[in-house]
Amino acid sequence: MLATVSGAVDRPGVYEIEVGTPIADMLAWGRVRDGVSAVLIGGYFGTWHELRAVAGLPMSAERMRRVGASPGAGVLIALPAAVCGLTETARVLGYLADQSAGQCGPCAFGLPAIAEDFAQLALGRPSGAVLERLDRRLGALPGRGACRHPDGAVRLAASALAAFAADAQAHARRMPCPAARRGAAVGGVLPIPRPRSGGPWSGGPWSGGPWSGGPWSGGPWSGGPWSGEERAEGERAEGERAEGERN
Ligand code: SF4
Repeated sequence: MLATVSGAVDRPGVYEIEVGTPIADMLAWGRVRDGVSAVLIGGYFGTWHELRAVAGLPMSAERMRRVGASPGAGVLIALPAAVCGLTETARVLGYLADQSAGQCGPCAFGLPAIAEDFAQLALGRPSGAVLERLDRRLGALPGRGACRHPDGAVRLAASALAAFAADAQAHARRMPCPAARRGAAVGGVLPIPRPRSGGPWSGGPWSGGPWSGGPWSGGPWSGGPWSGEERAEGERAEGERAEGERN
């Protein structure tokens, strides 16, 4: 099979592999960098996993099913520990919400709502009980569209909440993880095209921020929601979080 290895690797590319090749071998071929904390298996409709939990997992549908994963589009993306998985997921969910024709309820209402929830969570500025709201919404969407587009987005979102559970709890308490704040300088890892103008995200919390200027050029976070006042608020939240961990 053909597999794409990307993210925190020095040799990203498309590799021809045997079905059943372990994740660790694929990452080694891509010359994975130190400090990778998690991997996204299967592409943007795939699932996040802690690397240590899946390093020996064979890239095969049968074996991956046991841990709730699938080779999907054959994509494997390594996430550096210095990058926030919730933030990356929020970016992708915004993109996916922007890509449907909006003809079915889950896409017209559900995906934009979930993307907005994730944006709030990633920023550490939730409105109300965001995790409970996400749990309810993620449970309501699957199987209700004319195609599986919403199901794939839900799978990605749910896996992020599981793989980055401790960070999700901290973000929900308005204490975003240090990786989320470093993301302001590092920029996004997962490549995302520029959204349609007038799409559901054009006026949202990301407008003028991580989406503008493309996913790589100039750092998608520069000038975005982490500049100035937001950065100061993030530093304050980091202090509170550190204080909480000491107590
Ligand atoms: S569920 Fe599928 S067909 Fe329906 S609006 Fe979404 S992407 Fe289009």
